[in-house]
Amino acid sequence: MTADSWDLVIVGAGPAGATAALGALAHRPDARVLLLDRERFPRDKSCGDGIAPHVLDVLGPLGAAGVVDGWEPLQHLELSRGDHAVRGRMARPVWVIPREVFDARLVDQAVAAGAELRHHRVRQVRTDDSVVLLDEEIRARVVVAADGARSAVRSALGGDRSGRQALAIRGYAPTPADRAGRQVIRYGEGEVQPSYAWAFDRGDGLSNVGYGELLGDGRPPSRRWLLDQLEQLIPGTVEHGERWRGHHLPLSGWGWRREQPDGPVLYAGDAAGLVNPMTGEGIYYAVATGALAGRTAVTCPDDEPANAGARYRAAVRGVLDQHLRHTSLAARLTRAPEVVEAGITGAVRDQRTFDDLVELGLGDGLLTPRLVVSLGGALLRNRIMPTKGS
Ligand SMILES: Cc1cc2nc3c(=O)[nH]c(=O)nc-3n(C[C@H](O)[C@H](O)[C@H](O)COP(=O)(O)OP(=O)(O)OC[C@H]3O[C@@H](n4cnc5c(N)ncnc54)[C@H](O)[C@@H]3O)c2cc1C
Repeated sequence: MTADSWDLVIVGAGPAGATAALGALAHRPDARVLLLDRERFPRDKSCGDGIAPHVLDVLGPLGAAGVVDGWEPLQHLELSRGDHAVRGRMARPVWVIPREVFDARLVDQAVAAGAELRHHRVRQVRTDDSVVLLDEEIRARVVVAADGARSAVRSALGGDRSGRQALAIRGYAPTPADRAGRQVIRYGEGEVQPSYAWAFDRGDGLSNVGYGELLGDGRPPSRRWLLDQLEQLIPGTVEHGERWRGHHLPLSGWGWRREQPDGPVLYAGDAAGLVNPMTGEGIYYAVATGALAGRTAVTCPDDEPANAGARYRAAVRGVLDQHLRHTSLAARLTRAPEVVEAGITGAVRDQRTFDDLVELGLGDGLLTPRLVVSLGGALLRNRIMPTKGS
């Protein structure tokens, strides 16, 4: 191999990319792994900063569970839509850690494991079955494209994403006493469905606050509109908030597999269009697919990089396929506000419904028969006796 030839080149060092490096090096510690990012770390990223426990289920076995050290775990979640509200204790804690901190820690872990980190913005990608060439200067046996929602690798290779998108904005604001120690989600009651505002306490006096909505065919909403919706749903957040930053979310759908080709380029995280369409959570999918992509890249036989994509697709299918189908269906259903309200009233009545909803929205849960029965019952009750959720 020449000096700039690598077993694996990862484009993008966010959670998907850094975990791909960890996944690769855990399986082949001597692999030559190059991690590229157009930005220098630590860098900010528009996000709600919510880290689901499932993220640590992936990072723990890769030796990186320490990325949450020193940050307060949260156990309480409040969901509401108008008068319907539930406040519950989640079965497992979540963390709210600024991405400036979280992503930089994960990159440090990848470098400590043996990856080389390079500041480089990828613009061109050429590939045949035996090699991938980036910007005519970096050669790779396999590439993991972990370069986010507007993946330059995908654009360079002419790949299209057909899935739905959401747009969201986040900022940081002081945490008032009545929202301390909890994650708060308030669904919008306007025309755009689904939409919601959030306030997630970081545990250090500040909350991550924001608002997002599903994009339709028309013009995307303005920054002013997004902030007005946030202020309406969670008063006081905008006035005292700062560091506003918006971004698109590529929502996962029923058919994500069609978008992963057979060859030596593996798409992970947002670049694969993997954001939970019910909640906008994407970090778990990013680390889950990143770990699988890294492992596949270094375990696929030397004469078979052209099959890496097919192998990776099968690996992701085993972990996420059923869940993605269920969230896709659930997201369609929750476009009807009555379904959101039924979920809330069902969760008020039954802790297991609450737990199932959290699992579906944050991790790899399913629309369990128990959840479907509970939602159906709540829908009927809300129709017959429209009452407050709690
Ligand atoms: C407002 C908002 C709130 C959200 N809230 C949550 C939440 O609370 N919890 C949650 O789990 N998810 C949340 N998400 C989703 C989450 O942010 C993403 O799913 C997650 O960041 C995906 O990680 P990734 O590694 O795939 O991509 P990214 O985190 O976007 O990382 C991509 C990396 O690629 C680099 N890059 C891009 N182009 C190039 C290039 N050409 N060359 C080299 N490098 C490049 C970028 O600099 C970046 O570092 C939210 C998203 C938004 C927009």
